[in-house]
Amino acid sequence: MSGTNLESQFNALRVGYQLERFPSLANRLDRLRRVKAMLSEHEAAWCEALSRDFGYRSADQSSFADITTTIKAANHALKNLKFWMKAERRTPDLSLRMSGAKTYVESFPKGVVGIVSPWNFPINLALSPLISVLAAGNRAFIKPSEITPATSALLQKLIAQYFADDEVSVACGDVDVAQAFVKLPFDHVIYTGGETVAKYIMRDAAENLVPLTLELGGKSPVIVSSSADLKLTAKRIAFGKYFNAGQICIAPDYLLIAKERLDAFLIELKTAVENADSSQGSADSVSIVNDRHRQRLENLVAEGESKNGKVVRFAGLNQSCYQLTVVIDPSNDAAINTGEIFGPVLLIKTIGDLSGQISYINQSSHPLVIYYFGSSEAEFRRVACETSSGGLVKNDVIFQYANDDLPFGGVGGSGMGKYRGEYGFKEFSNSRAIYKSGFMDVSGFVTPPYSDVFRMVNKLMRKI
Ligand code: NAD
Repeated sequence: MSGTNLESQFNALRVGYQLERFPSLANRLDRLRRVKAMLSEHEAAWCEALSRDFGYRSADQSSFADITTTIKAANHALKNLKFWMKAERRTPDLSLRMSGAKTYVESFPKGVVGIVSPWNFPINLALSPLISVLAAGNRAFIKPSEITPATSALLQKLIAQYFADDEVSVACGDVDVAQAFVKLPFDHVIYTGGETVAKYIMRDAAENLVPLTLELGGKSPVIVSSSADLKLTAKRIAFGKYFNAGQICIAPDYLLIAKERLDAFLIELKTAVENADSSQGSADSVSIVNDRHRQRLENLVAEGESKNGKVVRFAGLNQSCYQLTVVIDPSNDAAINTGEIFGPVLLIKTIGDLSGQISYINQSSHPLVIYYFGSSEAEFRRVACETSSGGLVKNDVIFQYANDDLPFGGVGGSGMGKYRGEYGFKEFSNSRAIYKSGFMDVSGFVTPPYSDVFRMVNKLMRKI
């Protein structure tokens, strides 16, 4: 696609925004319903495209992870939008209150919002932002991932079927298209993807002072407390590593556990993997998205092994695609210690005491999420207060994302800004401060010449 095409798509959206700067509740609800219809009326086609892009991807998993989660997000917005759109009264301080002034905050659309989405959940991570963007009354321009071309082409086709060119548009293409896309003078851009590209995007956005929401990744740690139930921990970690073959930004990346509990944990992990395998079968698995990513994972494991890491390979659900593999205590210079794994490989570090676990986590940039397994509320609170991350979860993995009422996003190296639910509505809105003056002439009071009454009231104002 040429830059001219991108510009003409963008300009159509800009005109759409100019013609309807504050869409009514009814129009916004109608757009959200069209997102839902576009998903549910073509579910088989979406699942087929996803499987083609991944090499293989269980239709049930696609249906749950990409279709149902996105429809749920739309339902949440449909139910709550009229409350989110209400102007919120703010209490003026006493002096303004006495003058009869009234103050409000009201959310207005920002304009045209760019959505740059990744390959791992190509539908959900393009359309969940879209739901927030449309709920806030904006126009949207989506650049989906080139790594999942069949799904991106279907998205482009169906968006054109369900939305006018001046409401929502899609630009498919390689990195050169993505680079031209993020140079457009958007009113806001949300990017979901890796940290390196995020830095390029920030530089481009700076040219037009475009506000950004960055949904990045990183290494999400799992703290295994001495009070943790190892069976439950292993079952949930296994889930986090085979669901979408661990290609999830909030997948547990590495696990911190006491040396004395390691063998017992590995036995439970083996059982968990075998149970998942026998109860579901390989038809429910997901492939590593392409050879480059498969090779990347193999390199991480091989290098970890060559640097004193003990490697354990589990036969299981992903056997036809990639075995769940554990790398234990490789030396500090192994790449697996620093790079995000993003696949069915688990790094284990034998650090058992909570202080050591917390200081290990704090050595790196803030993760997207920290998982704590254990029964101690006091420990959980310590983790909350002594670390920083986008989210914090006790005794589970990934299911925080299932709650549409929670904000989603990172902090520091794992991103900036939060979306989903009301947080998404606010993120893509301009929260306008509105002040209506009252019956008293406040500005006249501070206009020279200043009197003794002015000086007295000036001092009094500091006390209220
Ligand atoms: P990707 O390669 O599909 O890239 C994401 C998007 O960036 C694509 O649309 C691509 O076209 C675009 N892009 C690539 N190069 C660009 C450039 N130079 N300028 C502008 N745009 C460019 O996806 P990825 O980066 O491999 O995604 C995986 C990463 O995303 C992981 O780090 C993962 O943790 C993170 N992620 C984060 C979340 C979240 O919500 N926080 C969700 C999923 C994935």
